Amino acid sequence: MPKYDYDLFVIGAGSGGVRAGRMVAQLGKRVAVAEESKPGGTCVVRGCVPKKYLVYGAEYGASMKAAKGYGWQADNIKFDWPVLRDNIQKEVSRLSGIYANILEKNGASLYTERAEIVDKHTVRLTTSGREITAKTILIAVGGRPFMPAVDGIEHAIMSDDAFLMESLPEKAVIIGGGYIASEFAGIFAGLGVKTTQVYRGDSLLRGFDDDVRKMVTDQQALVGIDVKLGASPVAIKKSSGGLIVSFDDGSKIGTECVFMATGRKPYTATLGLENAGVKVTDSGAIVVDEFSRTSAKNIYAIGDVTDRVNLTPVAIREAMAFVDTVYKDNPRGYDHSDIASAVFTRPPVGTVGLTEEQARAEFGDKIKVYTTNFRPMKNVLAGKDQRCFMKLITEGRKERVIGIHLVGDDTPEIIQALGITIKGGLTKADFDATCAVHPTLAEEIVTL
Ligand code: NDP
Repeated sequence: MPKYDYDLFVIGAGSGGVRAGRMVAQLGKRVAVAEESKPGGTCVVRGCVPKKYLVYGAEYGASMKAAKGYGWQADNIKFDWPVLRDNIQKEVSRLSGIYANILEKNGASLYTERAEIVDKHTVRLTTSGREITAKTILIAVGGRPFMPAVDGIEHAIMSDDAFLMESLPEKAVIIGGGYIASEFAGIFAGLGVKTTQVYRGDSLLRGFDDDVRKMVTDQQALVGIDVKLGASPVAIKKSSGGLIVSFDDGSKIGTECVFMATGRKPYTATLGLENAGVKVTDSGAIVVDEFSRTSAKNIYAIGDVTDRVNLTPVAIREAMAFVDTVYKDNPRGYDHSDIASAVFTRPPVGTVGLTEEQARAEFGDKIKVYTTNFRPMKNVLAGKDQRCFMKLITEGRKERVIGIHLVGDDTPEIIQALGITIKGGLTKADFDATCAVHPTLAEEIVTL
């Protein structure tokens, strides 16, 4: 008789948890996965996937308007929110089903219940009350939206709600200057909502390269977003006409919808981590070493719950490193440096490596910065003012490329390939030796 019910119990069937569960089950181990919501996690159910569909939806509207310059008559365009919302939810359900199937096909058991930790080797399924033991536990429960303590916060929605709205508001105020606020401002405005994005800082997307921040802050206006800087909400009140948001600069905005996009926090509060001696930081993130091992030696944690780099592909890479470490006798951590990522604003951002500020702090005057700023060809006949920005940063005599930052259509697609150049340690000379593909937007990166 085995000592434990399972070799591995995974809490959370998001991108990281499903990858780890599937891979370990494929190795012939006995694996169980618990998920309190739909399998697929934030990315599939209430994040990246439905969000990207909304961005596509917003872009279709903009493209129809811009098509006039190309000879197409596109008058009387109408948008039907329930059609888009329901089509997205259908696709989310299909994908979620695939996630469940992948686990089951590979022999893992899926429990669609919340699981909490009882002790180092035991979890309790909270609906059935069943207790299950496992040799190793992997926590991959992700994060949840954080709502600040603002008077009247119960009147606000968060990103989870935005995908399911009964109808689109005529007016919306989106609070925050990060990924979710900036992306949803572009989506709402594109779908015809009169949108105000309010951010407490002086330029959106803190942590990104300063020129990218400035460019995105300026270009939000071109898709119809009213950006209000230097203000935080202090109260949200119901009024006869909807909601009134008051800000700490004394201003007020009347609106139908207040959308808080004020960050996410690890989802650890009632997980029972203390029962197994698993340490967390002040913000609730599980503390892990480079192998994703927690302070309890048979318990590991990956993905947003560890608050390292909170991106789906990173959670998947951490899952693979966990599988190698624990089950393939190949202990390794995942290298979190130079991760390419994108922000799906309109136009979007693609970025990898150090920002100019970080590069200067690390390499001083040994860095060189190349930039270009132009109106892409596609926008000229379309009568669109959106511009494209590119920055390439190098260091040292050999000019190793250490940072690339792009704003413009298709830059998330372009940055994926450019990420390889940084991982591979390529130099500016390698870029110069690469012939351009003409006429494209991407060619500008080899002609800087
Ligand atoms: P972010 O941390 O990116 O942004 C949160 C924003 O809210 C910041 O602008 C922050 O301001 C502001 N904020 C925080 N607290 C308050 C407050 N009390 N009052 C007013 N403003 C406040 O979080 P998001 O929610 O946008 O996204 C969460 C995570 O999800 C991201 O970190 C990212 O990893 C991931 N994500 C990735 C996407 C992608 O890859 N394209 C898309 C969406 C999400 P300040 O800057 O001053 O701190």
